[in-house]
This record gives sequence, structure tokens and C-alpha cells, in this order.
Amino acid sequence: MSEEQKTTPRDFIRQIVAADVAAGKNGGRVHTRFPPEPNAYLHIGHAKSISLNFGVAAEFGGRCNLRFDDTNPEKEEVEYINAIKGDIRWLGYDWEDREYYASDYFAQLYEWAEYLINQGKAYVDDLSAEEISEYRGRAIHDGDKIITPPGKDSPYRNRSVEENLDLFRRMRACEFPDGAKTLRAKIDMRHPNLNMRDPVMYRIMHASHPRTGDKWCIYPTYDWAHGQSDAIEGITHSLCTLEFEVHRPLYDWFLDNLPVPHRPRQIEFSRLNLTYTVLSKRKLLQLVEKGHVAGWDDPRMPTIAGLRRRGYTPEAIRDLCARVGVTKAEGIVEYELLEYCLRQDLNKRALRRMAVLHPLRVVIDNYPDGQTEELDAINNPEDEAAGTRKVPFSKVLYIERDDFMETPVPKFYRLAPGREVRLRYAYFIKCTDVVKDETGEIVEIHATYDPATRGGDAPDGRKVKATLHWVSVAHAISAEVRLYDRLFKVKNPLQVEVGHDWLDNLNPDSVKILTECKLEPSLADVQPGDRFQFERLGYFCVDPASTRGHVVFNRTATLRDTWAKIRGRQTAAHG
Ligand code: ATP
Ligand code: MG
Repeated sequence: MSEEQKTTPRDFIRQIVAADVAAGKNGGRVHTRFPPEPNAYLHIGHAKSISLNFGVAAEFGGRCNLRFDDTNPEKEEVEYINAIKGDIRWLGYDWEDREYYASDYFAQLYEWAEYLINQGKAYVDDLSAEEISEYRGRAIHDGDKIITPPGKDSPYRNRSVEENLDLFRRMRACEFPDGAKTLRAKIDMRHPNLNMRDPVMYRIMHASHPRTGDKWCIYPTYDWAHGQSDAIEGITHSLCTLEFEVHRPLYDWFLDNLPVPHRPRQIEFSRLNLTYTVLSKRKLLQLVEKGHVAGWDDPRMPTIAGLRRRGYTPEAIRDLCARVGVTKAEGIVEYELLEYCLRQDLNKRALRRMAVLHPLRVVIDNYPDGQTEELDAINNPEDEAAGTRKVPFSKVLYIERDDFMETPVPKFYRLAPGREVRLRYAYFIKCTDVVKDETGEIVEIHATYDPATRGGDAPDGRKVKATLHWVSVAHAISAEVRLYDRLFKVKNPLQVEVGHDWLDNLNPDSVKILTECKLEPSLADVQPGDRFQFERLGYFCVDPASTRGHVVFNRTATLRDTWAKIRGRQTAAHG
């Protein structure tokens, strides 16, 4: 047991695991699994489950398996399997050689299904999916209460063991078309829990499976496959999200009624939800398929692949998961907390650079023509070891258009006619003139510099109120910068009024592409995935599409820490 576990474990699941270990359950062994269905890319909600499952295993000296829940060949693809593996590794977790598939157990599951038939605990049903659902009945809301009137037995429920065995074998032999029959567990059609009303174990699906090919035309349901896969793998703690709580009696029923080699325990925790986003694979698939985003790794997507391309770090995502913790309480996490985790991480490690996104030319009239100075710039004030670099300064520069106002409004302290500001790492400059084109648009401004202020303050002690970033025109690198904003314009995109669709909540301005950006020359050799802080602007990451001749950056986040404000508000609200 690690040092950490000797003190009180930090959440209810770790407390249960610690108690089980202390009681010598499973011989003191801890074995978890992360069980994605390969029907989509992973999203940040999955990261919570991944960090919990792999985290618990590591903290208790145990193991965590990767198990693909590949029971539905119609929706599953190899592309997803590879993406999921890459994403888990990128997050920093390792399943070593334990890469398993529910389909590895199809033969064992089949054998156990025959076992249940022989025990009189499973039967072949001819009802259609709609009829099964109708016979099962549904929950009715009666005030605060939910009641479940009894269901109705299928007319095929009392088939003999011999008939069931014969029909089931013929199902397996592909004698029947899709949907013609199912195998159902024979439990109780009057059970208050609908999941216990003779749940379906197998459905007929004449579909080729990515791993088993055409070997099977009957496929197990999640409920039938999951607990038994846990049992086969020797999983001690099967951690899943709350929607499976009502499935737990069934999970246990199968284990109780089968000669399984091991008894896993299911424990549920609440899902991660984030404001301004959706975390449902089906919904994310819709965004991709309908072209609302450029793909699964679109930097606006809450997928691991999207966050990575956006510039998020695995450390920031793991930090979010740790801060959110593990409970049974349903809640929604502020997107700003994720950004806060990112800023905390990148503030420590991202190198600072100067980049101008909306360039405005400044000509320094009293600076010698053709002269270049290499000025010292600090790479990261938070990390002395990051050192310094040289930034070229010359007569013509770019500054940010926003940093100049011809007629400054109150509280605008940056450059304006007659006003002096500091250029970061360089000189004080004073604006002397504004040049406009026929339309009245400002094309460049003129200024003078004070040579005595090089890299520091004015010897006469005069002050300036602003420090601007800049890039030398003669040395600048052109770049495309994609400014990403929230994908949805409302906090809870799935909350929609009648007659509206959740897609109406998409933010039409979630990306703005700037093609005329200018970067300091030290950024000429960046590689996809490199992350920087552009001074005064935010954190930016090199896009995979970037090349030496066409540099592309994605904005990960601005520098504004909105989380501090939200936290302040929340603390105030909660006393
Ligand atoms: P979705 O609801 O997005 O379609 P899912 O639960 O069907 O997702 P799976 O591939 O089955 O997706 O999920 C693998 C594991 O990740 C499951 O154990 C599931 O409980 C967990 N998981 C999925 N979404 C979240 C979430 N938002 N927060 C925490 N865990 C999650
Ligand atoms: Mg699922």
C-alpha cells in the first residue's frame, strides 16, 4: 500500500477498496478495468473513468485492464480502437499486455448461456424488440414516486429446456433472420426493477465483427457480457457510472447463477459533465457526421483527441479529474475549471514568445535604417532554467492593432498619438504620426524611440503605463492562427425549449481564422504539438497541419483566469 493510502483514502471508492484490501478480500488483490465501447473517440468524461481505474490500481499495487466492449459489430470500428489506445497512452496510463476484448469471451459466454438454459433460467423468445419492450412495461411517474406496474410474461416463456437448447443452437447456426428471436434470462416479469424483467442476453445480428468476422451471428448484450467478462479477468472492483446502478441487481444475478471463477463487485460513481459542452458519444458522433466540426479531433471537441490538438496537456486533464474527485453526486463542472488547470500547468512550463495577431506597422523614425539589435528576452519568468533568447529589433515593427487608439477612450493606457509606452525587452516609444489610406483606415503609425531606455527604465525616472509586445517586420514569420472559442453558446446545450434542437445552441463564432499573423523568428522551427505562451495573448499550440512554410497555431486558452472569479462567486454564494 502506498503512503497515500495509509491515511484516509480520498474518495468513497478508494475507501471501499482499502477496506476490501484490509479485510483480505480477493487475497488482497486489486484489479480494475477500463471498458470502452469502440464506437466513438474518447471524451473528457472517459478521462475521469480512466484516471480512476488506472489510478486506483496503481495506488493499491494492482492492475488495470483495457477491455474493449465490442459486443455491437454494427457500430464499432477499428479506427476507434486505435484512437482509444492512443488517447489512453497520451493521458499517461498503461495497460501493459492486458488488452482484452469482450469478443475474446464469446465462446465462454455462449457456454454459460447454455448452462442457464439447462438450469431453466434462460429461454428463447420469438417476440420482436417492440413487443418485448411493451410486455416489459414502463415506469410511471406518480407525483414524486416512480411506480412500475407488473409486466406480462411472453407466450414463449415456458418453452422446455430441450426446445430452448435446440432453438438457441439454431440461432447460433444462423438459421434465423435478424431480430427473429432473442435469448432472455428467465428472472421475474413482475420485478420492480425493469432490468430484471427477463433481460435480453443475445440478439441475432448478421453482421461482420471487426475481430470475430462472420463466426457469430448472435451477439451478447452489454448486461450479459460485462459482469462475466469482469469475472473471467478476475476484476475485483468494476467501477462504472451511475446509470448502471439499476443494472447492478442483474450484474449480481448472473454472477449468482453461473459457475464463474471469480466474483467481481460493481461500484458506481457520477459522470463528469462540463458546462458549454456535450459528453455523449452519440451526440459527438452527430457533430462529426453532420459536419458541425472538422472531425473527432477538431480542437473545439471535448474529445481527448480534440483537447490534445487544442493544446491541452495530459497533466491538466489529470489535474481536473483529481480536483473533481469521485462521488455519487450528479453535478456539472465549470468549463473554466478545466482552463484553470491548463493555465496552472502551462504557466510553469510554456516558453514565452511574442506574436502579433492583428498587425499594425510602426515606423520608428529616429532609429537607424538597416540596423538590427538582438535583444535579450526571458523564456519563462516562472522557470529560470528556461533561460533567455535573442529577439531582433529594427526600425519597422508590428504591434497589435488593439494596442493603438487614435482617440483613446478613458482607461485606455496603451499607445495613442503623443503618448509613450514601453516595447517589451526593447525601448520606450512615443507615437508621433498616424498614416491613413483613402478610406480613412490606419495603415501605419510613426514613432520615435528613446535609446536611453534600452531593456529597462528611463534614466530620468519618467513612467509609462503600458508594455506592448511587438515583432520586427524584417524578421517576422507569417502564420495562421486559429482562435477557438466555446463550441456551444449556452451552459447546458442539451437543455432546449420545445421546437428547438440542441444543435441550435452551437456557437456560430466558435472559430476565427487569422491568416496575417506575425511571429518572432525563434518560432520558425516549431513542431506540431509544441506549446507556447504568446505574451499578453494566451496559450497556443502548433497544429498537426503546420509546416515550416505554413505555420499554424491553435489558441488553447486566453490568459484571463475566469475561474478565479467564478470560484469567488461560488464561495460567496455558499457562505
Ligand atoms: P456515452 O454516454 O458518452 O455514450 P458510454 O458510457 O456509453 O459513453 P463507454 O465507451 O461505454 O461510453 O464508456 C467507457 C467507460 O467510461 C464506462 O465505464 C463509462 O461509465 C465511463 N464513462 C463514460 N462517460 C463518462 C463520463 N462522462 N464521466 C465518467 N465516466 C464516464
Ligand atoms: Mg457504454
